[in-house]
Order: sequence, then C-alpha cells, then structure tokens
Amino acid sequence: MSRNILEKLEILADAAKYDASCASSGTAKRNSAGGKGIGSTEGMGICHAYAPDGRCISLLKILLTNHCIFDCHYCINRKSSNVRRARFTPQEVADLTLSFYRRNYIEGLFLSSGIIKSSDHTMEQLVETARILREEHDFRGYIHLKTIPDADPELVHQAGLLADRVSINVELPTVAGLTRLAPDKDAGQIEGAMKGMKSAIVQARDETRRFRHAPRFAPAGQSTQMIVGADAASDADIVGKASGLYRSFGLRRVYYSAFSPIPDASAVLPLKRPPLIREHRLYQSDWLMRFYGFAPAEIVQAAGDDGMLPLDIDPKLAWAIKFRERFPIDVNRSSREMLLRVPGLGVRAVDHVIASRRQRTLRLEDVARLTVSIAKIRPFIVTADWRPTMLTDRADLRSLLAPRSEQLELFAA
Ligand code: SF4
Repeated sequence: MSRNILEKLEILADAAKYDASCASSGTAKRNSAGGKGIGSTEGMGICHAYAPDGRCISLLKILLTNHCIFDCHYCINRKSSNVRRARFTPQEVADLTLSFYRRNYIEGLFLSSGIIKSSDHTMEQLVETARILREEHDFRGYIHLKTIPDADPELVHQAGLLADRVSINVELPTVAGLTRLAPDKDAGQIEGAMKGMKSAIVQARDETRRFRHAPRFAPAGQSTQMIVGADAASDADIVGKASGLYRSFGLRRVYYSAFSPIPDASAVLPLKRPPLIREHRLYQSDWLMRFYGFAPAEIVQAAGDDGMLPLDIDPKLAWAIKFRERFPIDVNRSSREMLLRVPGLGVRAVDHVIASRRQRTLRLEDVARLTVSIAKIRPFIVTADWRPTMLTDRADLRSLLAPRSEQLELFAA
C-alpha cells in the first residue's frame, strides 16, 4: 500500500470513529460459493472492533473524505475545524475494501463522507464506490452507506440498490437542538429522506415476494444515529424521538452515541461528555420498547421528574420499583406480557418459563437456573415454594437491588 494511501487511511478511519451506527445485523444471505463473485455476508459476519471508549467500530469504517462544507458544531470534520484533511477517490476505497477483504481483515464496508462541493456530488461519489465494488468486482460482502438527506432522491435510490443497509443520521433528538448545533441541516429534509427510503424498502420487499428476480433494495433496512448529551434534550425526549422514528420510518435500529468533546470544540457545546452509562441506559430502554412490549410512555415513567433515566439501576428495574404494587406475579400463571416486566427475566428466560410450566409447576430453583441473579428477581415473583413477604413494600428496596456503586464508577465518564 502506498504511503499516500496509508496516510489517507489513517486520517479517514480516525475521522469515521465518531459514528456508532456501524452494526450489521439483518442482511440477506449472499455468498461467493460456486466460484462466482467475491465476498460473503455469511460466516463470521462483519468484522467489528471496539474502540477504547466502548464504541463498536467496523474494521473498514471510513470516510470518503473529511472535507466538509457544513459546520455542525459537534463534528470534528466541520469546515471550521482545524484538522488534517484527506480525500479518497471511489476507486481507492473500492481497492482498499477488496485488498482488506482478501487479507481477511474485514467482511464489509461502512462508508460515510463529509459534504464536498454539494450533497449531490458527494452522494454520487458514495454510489460510485459501491457500484465499482458490486458491478466491476461482483463484491458480495456487506456494504453500509450513509446517505445524504438533501441529495437527489434518484442518487439515494441508487445507494439503496447497491447497499445492504443505508442510514441517515437524525443527529439530534429535537428540532431546536438540530437548528442550534447543525445550522446547515434541516429536520424536515432528514425525515423526508427517511420516509422516501422506507417506501422504497417496503416496495422492494413486496416486489421480491412477487417476482423472483426483482432487484434488492437495502435488504438490511435503514438505521439512524442520535447524539446524546450535546444538547439539553432529556432521556424522555430521546426515547420519544426514537419511538417516533421506529413507528414512522420502520427503522431497524436507532443508535445512541454519547457526545465526545472534540479538539477545538465550539463554545456552544458542553465541556464534559455525558457518562457512557447514559448511552447504555438508552440502549436498554430501546430494547425494552422493541422486545419487551414497553410503551415509550412507560419508559418515561421510569425516568425522574427531570426526564432522565436513573444511572445506578436499569430502566426495567426502575419501572418495577416505581410500580411495585403490580408485583409479585405468579410465574406459574402470569401472562407473557407481565413476565417480561420482571426485572432480571429476559425474553428467552420468559419463553422457557412458559414452555416449562406446561409440564410442571415451577419452583424458585427452576427460575434461578434461567437467570444470572435470582436475588434481583425474588421480590417480584411467586413460585410454588416462594412468596416474598413484604419485600416489595420495603422502603430500601431500591438500595437492596441496585448494583454496588463501585461498579457504576467503572462506567462513569
Ligand atoms: S455534514 Fe456535519 S456531521 Fe457531516 S461531516 Fe459535515 S460537519 Fe460533520
């Protein structure tokens, strides 16, 4: 690899690390078995690494360029930022992807870009990179393209035809936050692009069901990312925004990225980053909405009067302590919906409980086998041989169940 390319790689891989939305779940199976093409989305899946601050990063997660004509305050690549700049050509990114792929370093590409010249020009370059990989090299590995909300819809459509997943970052949970911190961006345009993407994905899925050779369109769906802690939005605001995005645009995932102070930060940004545990609590609440049947309003109920989720306990436990009069519940009789409310009982454990209780009456030790900590669950359940006495009435229930504070400090910023 030439020195020039290595230098660009160093700059543009580093510049991409602030984007957390690189996970790669849910794509269609595609491989080069039979000697055709190169790459596969199967097997070990996409190669991930973890940055020291805990973010998931893909090995070939790069920007096409970190030049940008926009000036988003929270972004290290904004036009007023004093950073080293570099720019790849589409051919260079395609060559890098293939050469890393052949060396088994990566299983796919996550490609984003600063805005150069115009949104259309930038989108053309992103699409061209994916085109070279797919059409000239028959690359069958995973491609995730960031799309630019105000680019020509036809270009965005091309991106969907070539990529496994596309994403459009909503950036900030409130319109006021976006206007203040990303003055060149427009909330209406971002949501309009997500809406267009959703229709194209739904239409393509329908055509794929009806016609065997219908073109695939972003089979791994679309995702987005929200920055947490750069503006005054509370967790309740963020949860409300995320649930609206899931509902309106059929997103596969909303990613939360705790704002990291950047060199030469703008004066409008907070000086300190939020604790990383806040990001973790938001992921837990996201999980509760998507897999545990919690309504967004119930997550908000778990938050304090300031709209912030507690940091010392997870949102499911916070909700259960707040609504302790609904417990204990009988694991041998309760509905799946209520079992999913028990702190410490996961989806698989609940399914196991339901399957097992058809065969026999469950005892405490049966439930204990399904969970990491029966101590956390005991106050909330009744089994054939266990009924908590006054446990949920105890004033110190929260401190009994909260992890010890030393553990919290491991995660604190
Ligand atoms: S558009 Fe905004 S967030 Fe994206 S690279 Fe440019 S300055 Fe950064």
